[in-house]
Amino acid sequence: MTIPGGSGSGDQPSPGRRLRQLAGLSLSVLKGVGPAAEADLATLGLASVLDLLTHYPRRYIDATRLVTIDQLRAGEKASVLGEVVRVQKIGGGYGKGRRSPGRVEVTVADPTGRLGVTFFNQAWRAGQLPPGTLALFFGPVTSFRNALQMTGPQVEILALASQDGEARPDRGRIFPVYPLTEKVKLTSARLGRYVAEALERAGPLADPVPEPWLDRVQLIDRTTALNAIHRPEAMSEVEPARRRLAFDELFRLQLALVLRQRRLEDDARGIRHRTAPSSAEDNLWQQFVAALPFELTNAQSRAIEAIAGDLASPLPMHRLLQGDVGAGKTLVALAAMLISAQGGHQSALMAPTEVLAEQHAAEVARLVDGLSVPDPGCLGGRRPLRSALLTNRTPAGERSRLHDELRTGQLDILVGTHALLVDEVVFHSLGVVVIDEQHRFGVEQRAALRDKGRGQDGTGADPDLLVMTATPIPRTAAMVVFGDLDMTIIDELPPGRQGIATTWLRGRDRHGRAWSRVRDEVAAGHRAFVVCPLVEGSERIEATSAVAEAERLAGEDLAGLRIGLLHGQMKAADKERVMAGFRSGGLDVLVATTVIEVGVDVPEATVMVIEDADRFGIAQLHQLRGRVGRGSAPSYCFLLSDEESSDEATARLEAMERTSDGFELADVDLLLRGEGTILGARQKGRSDLKLARLLSDRDLVAEARQLAVEVVAGDPTLTGHPLLVEELRVFVDDEEAAFLFKS
Ligand code: ADP
Ligand code: MG
Repeated sequence: MTIPGGSGSGDQPSPGRRLRQLAGLSLSVLKGVGPAAEADLATLGLASVLDLLTHYPRRYIDATRLVTIDQLRAGEKASVLGEVVRVQKIGGGYGKGRRSPGRVEVTVADPTGRLGVTFFNQAWRAGQLPPGTLALFFGPVTSFRNALQMTGPQVEILALASQDGEARPDRGRIFPVYPLTEKVKLTSARLGRYVAEALERAGPLADPVPEPWLDRVQLIDRTTALNAIHRPEAMSEVEPARRRLAFDELFRLQLALVLRQRRLEDDARGIRHRTAPSSAEDNLWQQFVAALPFELTNAQSRAIEAIAGDLASPLPMHRLLQGDVGAGKTLVALAAMLISAQGGHQSALMAPTEVLAEQHAAEVARLVDGLSVPDPGCLGGRRPLRSALLTNRTPAGERSRLHDELRTGQLDILVGTHALLVDEVVFHSLGVVVIDEQHRFGVEQRAALRDKGRGQDGTGADPDLLVMTATPIPRTAAMVVFGDLDMTIIDELPPGRQGIATTWLRGRDRHGRAWSRVRDEVAAGHRAFVVCPLVEGSERIEATSAVAEAERLAGEDLAGLRIGLLHGQMKAADKERVMAGFRSGGLDVLVATTVIEVGVDVPEATVMVIEDADRFGIAQLHQLRGRVGRGSAPSYCFLLSDEESSDEATARLEAMERTSDGFELADVDLLLRGEGTILGARQKGRSDLKLARLLSDRDLVAEARQLAVEVVAGDPTLTGHPLLVEELRVFVDDEEAAFLFKS
């Protein structure tokens, strides 16, 4: 749509007020915003008019459906808008160091009558609701001595008593309720007035989304949307408004991600890897595959093909590898690392925790055993392919030896934690970087490791990057968190995997079922895991409780079985001894903390018992369960909990019982935990997604990505889209903008 005025620039193709203009206006330009109000608004993180207009209502009170006091009926829940006329504190107070219970009785009036409202044990309500306060009360109506009253309602303050003369919100309207904190003397009504003034003075807004796209995605125009989200005339206006503004958030984010991908390509100094060496001796990957005791799955082959294609190209790979637990991602990562090695390059695999790094290192060492690479300095012209582990626990002497070997190229594969990022780690020629992300590394850390390819003098090349997730994350979430990467999904498990029957057992008296299954399976020649309760933040306490549980099981529920113990506080040699015993069948049951979460691979294990399962997150439960069901026999997973668990834990455990599909569980996890946890490192500053919901807005995420891809493909520098560039500059930080728009 075409709106005159606002922009002030005559030949701008998109007239209307631009977001950058709003971002440049301080809130003091608004009537009634003096230094005190400005300070309050700053406490909410609001400095500019743009901040205010993107501080969206948390919910709405549909006052078109409010009831007046004379319409109230006992036994119903109701919303009443009224003014406090009397407040009284009864009982309570402090006696002998203990507070006795008390109550606050408030009388609320509206033009039709008066209502008694009682709060028990909330003495602070007396201070919150002085006479003159206008508030909304939502709660159950009861009858007491022939009079109606409300007990313990939710309260939304609309106008403070001290702000006399404050215009009262009209009945028959919809009130936006804004996110506020106790720290500020601001009400939703007041904030709403500031917003209304800002909207009126801003007038029509420039719209960066081309009209055909608005039609295609069925979006309303920005001006209508911003007005409707703050001042809807009907509740039905809110969702289309939210949808449009959510699209804008997602579109800006995708545009930044797609541009970033493009810029990386522009600047790239990639390596053409040697994917098909002429001599069989040099083809490490082929040798490796030939020696595998099984065939790769089709999905693995496809993933490796895509990766090999990337590696052969002069542009560096930026690829995300997703697959369910047990899908065989490690082999795919190893393919990339071996292709790197066969061309004489090194590779690095970074994991988010020491335990994971140790496990990957052990696995890689086992898998590459027997392979060799050319080395003119050695007898016979070859030396064994070498891998090593580097973490903060690596002793100083060994660490400096590793640093030397990396610099001279004697070490081919380095596995480790953040310890890989330090300056002392310098590669001779870094060809491939694999990051086991677990959503815990941010864009910066990925970049830091990748930058090591260029070396200290900056003359080196950009390594190819492969990012893996340990358990699946929903596709749309991946588009947001990893939107600067190409994506490959391994959607197939190796053949012959048996299902895992999962049962949630609530209450001590039912746990016996799990222990008798353990006994049966052991009698049949199989093995079992018992995972002990998670102790957040203390590996030591966790270890102590695992020791106690192992003793208890040996003396009671599992008496007579050969029980081993594994926890994070044990010496490496002891851990290895116990794992070896469990692998070889010298132990029947392994009682462990979550150190076994990832990587442990014992096909004879057919039972997984997880104690206090309600304390674990879905991804972790799914990983743990993935330790069984790896052989040819059917497997069992028991989730033990107390009788009572929170609603969220119940939803998690029920989902675990219902499905073994990691992608489905990832959706449930996102639904339960919200996007914040997934977005983690990705979110910063103004790029926050305030309105977009990754799960329910998946169509918008995909559309936003598609539009971003099309726009950048047609105009890689966005020269023809000045409004988009201007808007992105408002929302990304200066460093990011400099990178995205450097010429
Ligand atoms: P992920 O890391 O994806 O959870 P892993 O890489 O740990 O899975 O592989 C799980 C197990 O499956 C390992 O024991 C691995 O050796 C085995 N495996 C991998 N690929 C295949 C395959 N194509 N056929 C049979 N077993 C496989
Ligand atoms: Mg693995």
